[in-house]
This record gives sequence, structure tokens and C-alpha cells, in this order.
Amino acid sequence: MPATPALPALPAAATPGGAARGGGAPSEPGAQARPDLLGLGPGQLRAVLGDLIDRPFRAEQIFLALHERGVREFAEMTELHKDLRGRLAERFRIGWPEIAARAQSADGTCKFLLRLHDGASIEAVDIPDRDRRTLCISSQAGCALACTFCVTGYWGAGRNLSAGEIVSQVLAIRADRQMPAAGLRLVFMGMGEPLLNLDGLRPALDILARSISLRRITVSTAGVIPGIEEMASWERRPNLAVSLHAPDDARRSRVMPVNRSYPLADLLAVLRRYPLERGRKITFEYLLIRGFNDALTDADQLVKRLSGLQAKVNLIPINPDPVLGAAMAPPTDAAVAAFQQRLIQRGMTVTLRRRRGDDVSAACGQLRAFARDPRGRRSGGTSSA
Ligand code: SAH
Repeated sequence: MPATPALPALPAAATPGGAARGGGAPSEPGAQARPDLLGLGPGQLRAVLGDLIDRPFRAEQIFLALHERGVREFAEMTELHKDLRGRLAERFRIGWPEIAARAQSADGTCKFLLRLHDGASIEAVDIPDRDRRTLCISSQAGCALACTFCVTGYWGAGRNLSAGEIVSQVLAIRADRQMPAAGLRLVFMGMGEPLLNLDGLRPALDILARSISLRRITVSTAGVIPGIEEMASWERRPNLAVSLHAPDDARRSRVMPVNRSYPLADLLAVLRRYPLERGRKITFEYLLIRGFNDALTDADQLVKRLSGLQAKVNLIPINPDPVLGAAMAPPTDAAVAAFQQRLIQRGMTVTLRRRRGDDVSAACGQLRAFARDPRGRRSGGTSSA
């Protein structure tokens, strides 16, 4: 364990029954003060609904209506008595986000700017590919880790998303794009650090895993060791991806301040012990930044560091952004290919993340940045929903 102090925790989403915070305009008076039912599994629903329901199976019925049918209003739960529907609507809410903006790319990628009940905004991305479809979702509204290459980090800390707010990103996008859950993949690579929000993440995974296999869900972390250890103790786990981005502590700490709390040797030691199912690997994301970490000697060092791990490397040429400055530029295609080749020659399993949706500003955090420019410039790159 590192000697440095633990990272600051972000505040949680407004708790059920708590007062709404400023920023969002509630659609009905008092509506935001009601507890959201979307983050609760059937057992928890049964407990929360208590005397309201006459039979225990009603909780399962309500769960299926919320998560399989995707109902947005209690009035749509016609399998329940009108009376019960009315009482549910008086006491609870179904916390879907509002789609504030969409940015559709020519390659099919679509970024969504989602507005939460307290006015906080997050982003999620639908990434259709030839034979698969991936949703990239957020775990926090903002991020405290301040990685220097990340636009979300530039915008600073926000708050943890509740389990309901995590799950409802999937519901809202599936409904908007009319897509079934079958075959869908989920990656927690949107805004935030999922392992600093285990209270939201874990119940959300329990709910999501009922319709999407955990083998198709990937949680990406900047390397928060206590969170990785906690995940290692779970009976059922999603896939794990770790953002590495540099092969040594000096450089990693420069771009990822979290490395000062959880340095590479400690992080990799924990990952060497991480329980993996047969044939499974940990994904290591490696951003390629021109002149910073793209030398062939860096590829060699990376392979050495990952020895003894069931690892695959996902190379990601950095998405540049005006707020990041000119130093954050991707290498040339030739340099990316040479780096990839070197890793392959040394026996590493490597994938190269194709650039997707870059005509609609696809880098992490960009859509929100466009929509909330503090300098008052007009938003660009997004269209109103
Ligand atoms: N906090 C988690 C998950 C969110 S970031 C993590 O760090 O893994 C998801 C991925 O997007 C990370 O690998 C992150 O390094 C990457 N990313 C951030 N900014 C980027 C940029 N400008 N271009 C490309 N990828 C970026």
C-alpha cells in the first residue's frame, strides 16, 4: 500500500428523500425530492416499497417494467392497480436523464450530453462497430484525478453518480437509439473514476448484469489500488482495464497525479494477484503522446513492466483538444504503427483503438466542455436534442 494519503472522496448523488440541489429545473414541483427507484435491485425494491405492495412479486414486476420495458412513468405500469401506480408516483421517481444534446458522427458514433436531475451533466457514447455495439458510460459527473491529457480532468471534480444514474444512461440511450440489450457491450470509460465510486458502481453492475453479461462489461480505472482490491474480492467481476499511459513512475506521475498515491510497482503487484478467469486478460490502455511516451524503447520498457501479467495492451493515439495544449498531440501514423509492431514482436497482445467520432469531438469530456464553456463562447460540435 502506498504511504501517501488516500484520494479525496467525492460527494454522493443527492440521497433518496434529500432536497434537490440548484441548477436543474424540475419538471414538476417536488418531483426531484422523491427517491429514484432505478438503482435498486428487486430485493431492495421490495424493502423500499414495504407496505405499498400487496405481494412480494410486485417488486419483481416493477423491476422488470423499469429495466426491461424501460418505462419512464409509473402510469405505464399497467400491470399494477391504478391505485398502486398513483401511490408510487406520489412517493418515488424514475430518474431518467434528459438528453440535452447529441452529436452524431459520420462513422455512426453518437455522443450524448445527459442532464441529471440536479443539473449536473455527463456524457455517454454509443459506438456501433461492424459486429458489435459498445456504450461508453460515466461513473462520476466530473473527475478529481486531474490527468493532464483528459478534458474531464481539466474541468475538475464533480460528484459521484448514484447507481440509478449509472443504469439510466444505458436505458436512455437504448431507448433513443431503439437498441436491444442483446449483444451490447458496456465500458466505464466516460467521465469519472469508477473505482472512486464503488457505492454507485457495484449495485449498478448487479442491475446491468441481469441483461448484459459481465463478460461484456469493462470497468476502466486510472489505477486506484483499494478499488481494484475490492473488485478482486467480488464473487462476480466485470473485465478490468487499467490506464497506464507511461512505463515509468516519473512520466506517469507527470500526466497522472494518481500515480503519486499508487505508484506502478504497487499497482502492478496488485494486478499480478488479481483473479482472472481462464483465458481472460487485463487490458492496459496506453495513450500515445508524441515525443512523450512513443519511443520504441518505451515499448520495450512497457513489455518488461507487464511481464508475468495476463495482459493485453490497447494503444490509443491521444485525441488532442484545445484545452490540453499543443504538447498533447498524437504521434504520426507511422510512429504508432512502429510502436505497435514492436510490442507485437515482443509477444504482446495489442489492439489499436481506431479513432471514432472525431468529427464530433470524441475525446474524453469534450462534449460537456463544448456545452459548458465558462468563457461564454457559443457551443459547437453538438446539436440540440
Ligand atoms: N478514470 C478511468 C475511466 C475514464 S477515462 C480511467 O482513467 O481509466 C477512459 C479512458 O479514456 C482512459 O484510458 C483515459 O486515459 C482515456 N482518455 C482520457 N483523455 C483522453 C484523450 N484526450 N484522448 C484519448 N483517450 C483519453
